Amino acid sequence: MIPYSTQFIEQDDIDAVIKVLKSPYLTQGENVKKLEEEICRYLEIKNAIVFNSATSALFALYNSLGIKKDDEVITTPITFAATSNMFVTLGAKPVWCDIKNDGNINEKLIEELITPKTKAIVAVDFGGKPVEHIKIKEIARKYNLLYIDDASHAFGSEIDGQKIGTFAEVSVFSFHAIKPFTTGEGGCIVSDNDELIEKLRLFRSHGMVKEKLWSSDMIQMGYNFRLTEFQAALGLSQIKKVDRFINKRNEIANYYDERFENNKLFYTQKIEKNQKSSRHLYPIILTHALYDAKEDIFAKLQKKGLGVQVHYKPIYQNSFYKKNFGRTNLNTADEFYKSEISIPCHQKMSLSDAKFVADTFLDILKEHERHYL
Ligand SMILES: *Cc1c(COP(=O)(O)O)cnc(C)c1O
Repeated sequence: MIPYSTQFIEQDDIDAVIKVLKSPYLTQGENVKKLEEEICRYLEIKNAIVFNSATSALFALYNSLGIKKDDEVITTPITFAATSNMFVTLGAKPVWCDIKNDGNINEKLIEELITPKTKAIVAVDFGGKPVEHIKIKEIARKYNLLYIDDASHAFGSEIDGQKIGTFAEVSVFSFHAIKPFTTGEGGCIVSDNDELIEKLRLFRSHGMVKEKLWSSDMIQMGYNFRLTEFQAALGLSQIKKVDRFINKRNEIANYYDERFENNKLFYTQKIEKNQKSSRHLYPIILTHALYDAKEDIFAKLQKKGLGVQVHYKPIYQNSFYKKNFGRTNLNTADEFYKSEISIPCHQKMSLSDAKFVADTFLDILKEHERHYL
């Protein structure tokens, strides 16, 4: 089975982890700090703080920004549930904004959703394709809202040569195994806001500051959301390769783009000329006539060895959200869910794997062309 995404671990990654396992410090040593410095260097941003997952990073962030009960947060439903879960757990209410046909939040629809209770806008660079950060930032500024980017898919993505992570006030990345590079589990918050980063540092580790000798003081509520030293060492080894990984995924995506150009049965996510995508996902969006056949197509693809997946069921369609916030229907998001299939695209694939995926995919769709069109 060729998975839709997977990690790529080489001998030097393994050696880096083993070295730390044999060292005196498994946690709270120099590797975490070094990884944070490397992230800052790569993204060209002032501060980075790593967490044991993007989910705990989001929880820490929403808390530290003061998002609370009855606040409204405008966000996209086409994302992993953690994006909204972590402010919903604080009592805030999700206000779903519809998407565009590339899977990204539709910036033109944001303004009409703003109320006196709106506190923040949370965007997600779907599959690695940058959202319209400059336009959304303008809206956030105009209404004095926080602008947060859940950039979990988009480490290494760019607009006009500027890295994602540097556009919103604060951005979050995930280092989960199948994300652009990995620490196994892990995440990160980046921002130019020093005060926020200090709060997050306390939040990450029990709210405690060291004074002198044995004395410390707990000055705010805190948790233990720390990344281990051996995970940080893996991250340090992996971040060196992230450009190679992104180039590889782009090579595969470009090959698919060529093979799939002008196909009547589906379209794919278009990356604009001034953008670079991490290509975390390669989404296929089937034509309306194939919606009913999607289950069948999906099952056939799996049977042929393609580890396809669907990204995502709109968050508001989950029973927890229906129970707590009622029913929601957003046209484009609903249609996107009916039509989307992510096909394999990752740094461990060869071009001949990509050819196999494209051939298989086109073959299976051809069968359906006869039946459905
Ligand atoms: C993966 C992901 C998360 C959660 O990341 P973890 O590191 O697994 O906690 C959050 N948001 C988005 C958009 C994701 O893709």
